[in-house]
Amino acid sequence: MTWEIGDVTVTKIVEVEMSLGGEFLFDERVSVEELQKIGWLAPHFIDENGLLKISVHALIVDTPTKRILVDTCIGNDKEREIPIFANLQTKFLQDLEGAGFPRDSIDCVLCTHLHIDHVGWNTMLVDGKWVPTFPNSRYLFGKAEFEFWKQNDVDNADGHIDQKMTFKDSVQPIWEAGLVDLVDLHEQICEEVSLEPTLGHTPGHVSVRIRSNGEDALITGDFTHHPCQIAHPDWNSHVDYDAIQSTETRRAKYAELADTGTLVIGTHYATPTAGHIVRDADGYRLKVD
Ligand SMILES: [Zn+2]
Repeated sequence: MTWEIGDVTVTKIVEVEMSLGGEFLFDERVSVEELQKIGWLAPHFIDENGLLKISVHALIVDTPTKRILVDTCIGNDKEREIPIFANLQTKFLQDLEGAGFPRDSIDCVLCTHLHIDHVGWNTMLVDGKWVPTFPNSRYLFGKAEFEFWKQNDVDNADGHIDQKMTFKDSVQPIWEAGLVDLVDLHEQICEEVSLEPTLGHTPGHVSVRIRSNGEDALITGDFTHHPCQIAHPDWNSHVDYDAIQSTETRRAKYAELADTGTLVIGTHYATPTAGHIVRDADGYRLKVD
């Protein structure tokens, strides 16, 4: 699955797709009945039973000067408490190579934030050791984000489940290999690609803006997990670090994006994954073609 934004091509490589009950991400407000009231969510974003369709994928942003891999999913062989993330054995790397992006061709890995399902393939297990999966790449982590998780000594509490272990096996080895560049919330990565702060889900969360030849796209990261939050910006996820700030971020971002030409590419949105935010009655919806 690919999108063209001027001279930039974005390609989605899926690691896993799943259907989950609303309670996996949200509180009791997000019931099957409430989801089914949002008519446009079916069939792409909820299934016939009202379960949320969720995708974990990486996005390759291929620009004329840099090949950037945005978010590295869950990864294989990782020891985790959360069953759906534990010890995966997927063929993600073969799929990446099959799509024309072998590991050694990636110039830059960019993590929107340092949660478990965004840093996994930063490393791979070789002879019992976690080594960088993308040896020719600089790994870009937000400065604030890195500092926060570096100091995190809490595991298995709200929003922190598996995060200590994740930092140890998927972030620390990259730092030790000298491959990390800590970046600012507004960092310009190359001519076409820059970061924008979308705080609240985590303390240093960013989205990725792509601009080329008058066209424009935004890779969301997890300031929005699921399109149901476009209809209800106040439906914060219980893995949001700051529920109030994450809600404010969604409201502000939807208002900014609505009825513009910006292609919104969701980091966990199920296929078709991208669309345009349009005003709908007193809220918004995602228009997919
Ligand atoms: Zn995520």
